[in-house]
Amino acid sequence: MIYTVNGPINKAQLGLTLGHEHFKWEENETYANQMYFNKKYDDEDIKASHEMILPVLNELYQLSCRAIVETSPPIGGQNVKLLKQLSMASGVHIIPCTGHNVPKHIHEMFKDTFISQISKKWINDFQEGLDTIEGTVIRPGSKRLLSPLRYLRNTCTILSDCIQWEFGLPLN
Ligand SMILES: [Zn+2]
Repeated sequence: MIYTVNGPINKAQLGLTLGHEHFKWEENETYANQMYFNKKYDDEDIKASHEMILPVLNELYQLSCRAIVETSPPIGGQNVKLLKQLSMASGVHIIPCTGHNVPKHIHEMFKDTFISQISKKWINDFQEGLDTIEGTVIRPGSKRLLSPLRYLRNTCTILSDCIQWEFGLPLN
């Protein structure tokens, strides 16, 4: 089962897939966090982005692309409301992600419980969904971790393997 912004599909429905793309990297970190944690979106920004990105998706569809894996973690401003609209308008399946960026100082402050807390968040993102839009519970189809800490990346890869085994989520 593959989780897309329009709900789950079978692997066979994927077709030609771009495996690692960023639709729109969000430079405003406050807005990025607002979307991820508070499910609040700027509809004007969505409209402008939709108009800019849709022609690219339509062209990709013409070139036989049928699915795209979006790999922006929350700090990158993954916008599932925009992605859902783009997917419906273009016919291209879009697979959203969960995950996070983990700078060293954040990990240092919470290192005793860090792994258990981040895994809880990822599992919650999957169980509850990243958001529910127009009746569709949008679950992440992959996880993305940005961190300069090699041992943390290694630990999270092991953790991801466990979550993948439990829920079928690949680490991107
Ligand atoms: Zn990337």
